[in-house]
Amino acid sequence: MPRFAYVNGRYVHHPHATVHIEDRGYQFADGVYEVVPVHGGKMIDEDPHLDRLEHSLRELRIGLPTSRTALKMILRELLRRNGVVNGLLYIQITRGVAPRDHKFPQGAKPALVVTTKRTKPTATALVENGVRVITIPDIRWKRCDIKSVSLLPNVLGKQRAVEAGAFEAWQVDEKGLVTEGTSTNAWIVTKDGVLVTRNANEAILNGITRQAVIRLTNEAGVTFEERPFSVAEAKEAREAFLTSSSGHVLPITRIDDTVVGDGKPGPVTRRLRAAYLDYIAA
Ligand code: PMP
Repeated sequence: MPRFAYVNGRYVHHPHATVHIEDRGYQFADGVYEVVPVHGGKMIDEDPHLDRLEHSLRELRIGLPTSRTALKMILRELLRRNGVVNGLLYIQITRGVAPRDHKFPQGAKPALVVTTKRTKPTATALVENGVRVITIPDIRWKRCDIKSVSLLPNVLGKQRAVEAGAFEAWQVDEKGLVTEGTSTNAWIVTKDGVLVTRNANEAILNGITRQAVIRLTNEAGVTFEERPFSVAEAKEAREAFLTSSSGHVLPITRIDDTVVGDGKPGPVTRRLRAAYLDYIAA
């Protein structure tokens, strides 16, 4: 367990870190969060993560409780205090504490909590064999671009995946098009060799890993298209993979009961994974 958490202006011992029962994050899921990966003691893509945090806050009209500069200092101080070399920083901001009432409270101060988690490298078996995803209906709201703490559909979806012996669940919209995983973005290399990931709009979270991998597609020497793809197209694809801050680029070798390509992680996935690992190491 990490030693310290940052809670509203103080570094407190993690076992004693608490928020008020009338925090609107607890009452209404009225808050947002952000997860910044840490590699070799350094944050990866800190500014893009903070940009996305500010986007989420702006869309919900919650103020940033500290300046960006102060927040950056808090993140560094917590990493230092907890001795995190490889792991994740969680930043959570809610609309604050106020007597329960749906409408925005007058004068509540946004609440800020920062925690850390150490992580181990992704298990070699997952990287070498690839993982399985199942497909489930996307039952989320229409603003998935906001990284809201309201994660119930994602929680239920991930649990369905686990109970099905899969790694992740791909959520599918009413047109049969894949939106994204419960905590990952979805990619395929079509049967014609085109790399495809869904365009980022209000239907998905615009993953920071997704954006980094898009910048690396040139190096992979493949044609790239940002557009939705169907479950049927994915099941006929040569390759599939997922991206996220914690899993980086992870091959998918089975979608429901369909084997993807030859059942092994494909060359484009492997090249992009290597390119992404080089990028974070640099
Ligand atoms: N989609 C969802 C729903 C997520 O929760 C995450 C994880 N934050 C992602 C995609 C991947 O985003 P990132 O690459 O920024 O971790």
